[in-house]
Amino acid sequence: MPTPQPPHPVLSPEALREIYAHARRDYPSEACGIVYGPRDRPSADQATACKNIQDRLHAEDPERFTRDARTAYNLDARDLFALQKSLRGDRPAKIVYHSHVEVGAYFSETDQAAAVFDGEPAYPVEYVVVDVWAAGLRGAKQFCWDPGQRKYVEIGDYA
Ligand SMILES: [Zn+2]
Repeated sequence: MPTPQPPHPVLSPEALREIYAHARRDYPSEACGIVYGPRDRPSADQATACKNIQDRLHAEDPERFTRDARTAYNLDARDLFALQKSLRGDRPAKIVYHSHVEVGAYFSETDQAAAVFDGEPAYPVEYVVVDVWAAGLRGAKQFCWDPGQRKYVEIGDYA
């Protein structure tokens, strides 16, 4: 796959570096965050590391949240609020990222479910999944909503 191209949001090299560093730092848990960028350009240049609250959810209610942070992510209400609020400003959220630990950078059924609300995209963003292993990183893939297939599909990758 080629690198994501406009009109898709495109991660800046700096943002990509920060996301990769975050994925390494949080290994073997999944890291997650939001990338913001200027409204008038396709660049996604400001990566914000968020807290993955999946471990807390799992500890509080293991029957509902069967997975812990090694195999799932969940953004805090505070981070989702910041995402929503940014959509009205001049540096909107463009990408939500998370890492996959030793399984590959695919968009899982869980990821699809988390990104959709009532059959529509929950947020007007694209998704990046980072492929992280004990030995290091193996790149990342970007996914966007396909209205025809009514699901997220891969549109490109980053080395
Ligand atoms: Zn995932």
